[in-house]
Amino acid sequence: IHDLPIRDITTLGAYADQLQLEYQTRNEPFPPAARLHIGEPDFRTPEHIRQAAIESLATEMQTYGAAAGRPWLRELLAEKIARVNGYRIQPTHTAIGMGGTGVIQATLLATVGPGDEVLLPDPCWPHYTLQLAACGATGVPYPLDPQNEWLPDLERMEQLITPRTRLLIINSPGNPTGTVFPQSMIQQLLEFASRHDLYLLSDECYDQMIFEGQHLSPASLLSTAEFEEGRVISAYTFSKTYAMTGWRLGYVAASTQMIKTITDVLNAGLTNVSTAIQRAGAAALTGPQECVAMMREAYRRRRDLAVSLLRDFDRYVYTPHGAFYVLIDIRQRNGEPRDGREFALELVRQCNITVTPGYSFGAAANDYVRVSLAADDKAVERGVREICRLANL
Ligand code: PLP
Repeated sequence: IHDLPIRDITTLGAYADQLQLEYQTRNEPFPPAARLHIGEPDFRTPEHIRQAAIESLATEMQTYGAAAGRPWLRELLAEKIARVNGYRIQPTHTAIGMGGTGVIQATLLATVGPGDEVLLPDPCWPHYTLQLAACGATGVPYPLDPQNEWLPDLERMEQLITPRTRLLIINSPGNPTGTVFPQSMIQQLLEFASRHDLYLLSDECYDQMIFEGQHLSPASLLSTAEFEEGRVISAYTFSKTYAMTGWRLGYVAASTQMIKTITDVLNAGLTNVSTAIQRAGAAALTGPQECVAMMREAYRRRRDLAVSLLRDFDRYVYTPHGAFYVLIDIRQRNGEPRDGREFALELVRQCNITVTPGYSFGAAANDYVRVSLAADDKAVERGVREICRLANL
């Protein structure tokens, strides 16, 4: 546990569970668990979605399917993208894979190879680095600025370009920052990618987890001809929107040619997502959307709770406008840095609370811990209070 780079943040949860069990076995008091380290909705997948999978298993052959997904689901994805993300595409501009993780990995395998450099946000979802390593490519972090709403600095990004730079990853709404890029920033990033002839992978896995403002898909700013150039690839998932993390269902939208290449990659590894899971996805898209609004409201309520507690404790906090995380500055009162790993471990040992140390997301988040709002209100409240107590020692 002392080597915790928390590449696999489930390690911290397992450690906390083990500790809790040890206390229980010895019959010693230990605080109730607050698991705030992982972006795992605390809601059950809505009933109508679960029923669609059960119905499929009961009535349909579960055969091999097309690698890019069943045509009926791809049709619904094109409709969802027009409705939610504001751009018109054909079903053939989509491909379905194993969660956001699976389609992002397929996209990276389709676009970069050994020696290539990829610009990725710092801080960011840690899997990008693992995924790039699996492609033989190198991640080059571009810092997001906590003093400027965790937005990137285009001038600094210019300096990171080399002849090997092939792809730019952007993530809005962002994990772990919760920042939502304004239209002007999306426009500048599109121009930047075009000027340097880079692919632009827009990770929009939290596209429907927006509390204020509006999520803007870069692809919605392109003409049909520009979209067909294949520069912009957008990744989405059912995991967060419909509390379907374990179902492993995600999709990408890109040009016809790019989808063909991504389909080849999917065919090589996944062959296809099972039909019952795709039926569940179809039910999610065609069924009532109140469940999405209900979950979003719960995350917003917890966001408000966390932010107001942090203000009470006199801790500066950037108010996240999307996704479901809050970054908390754990520097000492005199501004001295604190070891994030030690802090996270101490929080587990003293309080049975798990958070993710900021360094897991990149150097720009060294002074922070990330709290997930995808846990019940009580856990979020106790977590934030204890973090503040421990940080103010
Ligand atoms: N992208 C970001 C920014 C994420 O935070 C996550 C999950 O936490 C994913 C992609 C992967 O989503 P999925 O769980 O659908 O694989």
